[in-house]
Amino acid sequence: MTDPANTTASPAPKSMDAIMALCKRRGFIFQASDIYGGINGFWDYGPLGAQLKKNLRDAWWQDMIMRPCWGANGPNGQPVRCVPLETRIIQHPKVWEASGHVAGFNDPMVDDKETKGRFRADHLIGAFCAPIDAPAPTTAGLPAFTIVSSTPGEAVTILTDDKKLRKLLGVDGLEPVAASSSGQALFKCEYKGKPVHALFAQVPMETLKAQFGNIPSPFTGKPGSLTEPRQFNLMFKTYVGATASQDDIAYLRPETAQGIFVHFKNVADTTRVKMPFGIGNVGTSFRNEVTPRNFTFRSREFEQMELEFFCHPDESQEWYKFWRDFRMEWWKRIGLAGENLILREHDKDELSHYSCGTSDVEYRFPFTAPGFGELEGIAHRGNFDLTQHQKHSGAKMEYNDTERGEILPNGGRRGERYLPHCIEPAAGLDRGVLAILCEAYTKDESRPSPEFMKFNPRVAPIKAAVFPLVGKDGMPEVADKLHAELSARFWRLGAIECDEKQTIGKRYARMDEAGCPFCFTIDGDTLKDQTVTVRDRDTGGQQRIGIDKVSAFVADKIGE
Ligand code: ATP
Repeated sequence: MTDPANTTASPAPKSMDAIMALCKRRGFIFQASDIYGGINGFWDYGPLGAQLKKNLRDAWWQDMIMRPCWGANGPNGQPVRCVPLETRIIQHPKVWEASGHVAGFNDPMVDDKETKGRFRADHLIGAFCAPIDAPAPTTAGLPAFTIVSSTPGEAVTILTDDKKLRKLLGVDGLEPVAASSSGQALFKCEYKGKPVHALFAQVPMETLKAQFGNIPSPFTGKPGSLTEPRQFNLMFKTYVGATASQDDIAYLRPETAQGIFVHFKNVADTTRVKMPFGIGNVGTSFRNEVTPRNFTFRSREFEQMELEFFCHPDESQEWYKFWRDFRMEWWKRIGLAGENLILREHDKDELSHYSCGTSDVEYRFPFTAPGFGELEGIAHRGNFDLTQHQKHSGAKMEYNDTERGEILPNGGRRGERYLPHCIEPAAGLDRGVLAILCEAYTKDESRPSPEFMKFNPRVAPIKAAVFPLVGKDGMPEVADKLHAELSARFWRLGAIECDEKQTIGKRYARMDEAGCPFCFTIDGDTLKDQTVTVRDRDTGGQQRIGIDKVSAFVADKIGE
């Protein structure tokens, strides 16, 4: 998450509770196993959500693999080339040793023995809470705070250069109300359903380990009840085969990317793709997150859409910039335009040891506002992954580039052998859907549907609806015919609805909540002059067009 410290003024955030309620009521997202009380960190998609998610996945697939970058040329002046791949959730455990996930994919976790509360040690350490109606915890005795506004409950501008603190302030679900420049932060948050003030101070891991007995619990404010921080591996473990012995341990993948690296040579050897080229992989990943939260934002099972773009090391910086800019543009075109989307280049000290550059596309979710949450990371990974897999598997990963290398006296060429560098745009599909839902959610009390979803027509789960004004005088028959025509053309892209129950206003309202961009109404005039009314979801404006033009109208708007 990005710190809110250097964000610009923004409109009041939308209510996440209202968005979640609409998602449940209209069948976008349900809690997994909800009749059994749900299971923390797992979410299912209802009929509208499943189609919305499919449309986003398809848009990625089309714009990244089938016609990369909308047909534009890359920095080398050539069309961008990408191919698809589909790899399994369970891989050989050595894949995750080579990738570093077995040793390093850890979050430090601390438990409060008294309340059974759990938190990530690198998120919040050392705190005490007080009810919000009591005076806020005093900052007396702490190093100077620089607070621009300190009204409890209001987000404030924090003036601090302390990077760690700024990161800390972006922690999901906590609303900063004040902070010091030396590592203390005062938050408004919830404890056991009650709003409380909490004062947190970030303590270096070494201090924490040595002094965990003296540090007050963030849950009770009392020292003595915290456990020593433990490293907790985020990979889900399972056993392959019947014996369930240590030798049978396998992991559910925490990312789809490694499946691509493992098959880099297979793809290069079996297709006609030439360097530079990309390999895309879409699928489910699992992370046993310490604290899943914020609806689907941090789930334990989620889908990723990852591309590994391989290129010559000399060209890698140009390709990094190219993908970073394209990915930002892509999210804009999908409907996340505006001030809620930023591209954030990581500072040098945030980069992994092998990375020469990483940027995040970030969205201002209602629960991160005024800060932002990551939607996608675009990383220059150098040749780290191929080097690791070459080392651990013994398989040669070098690419023989016959378009480069030394020209021989006979005019032929000795290909240049190298380990390509890799640019990785890694996007979260579920986070993308969540951002689209949050962006689309619009409240306008003056409309028949005070809440409506402004989806970009390309991703909208229902593309159009056809309504006979009344259920008689031949109107239903005309509506059925138009519905059949539109369904036959657009069924691959989403639903076409036909509805003749209730008043026309109520039917519009239902479609507005589902985010259907266009409703076509068949009325008395249709029978006379073969025209229909088109109603625009966002403006409520209406126009008449010929019934024979409806199909072309929809195709144009959804970019078929
Ligand atoms: P975060 O810092 O939020 O944990 P990350 O940097 O670990 O994310 P990556 O490993 O870069 O994430 O994964 C690529 C993308 O996968 C992220 O940008 C995000 O959209 C998605 N993603 C990662 N973890 C989760 C999760 N627990 N739930 C939903 N989506 C996730």
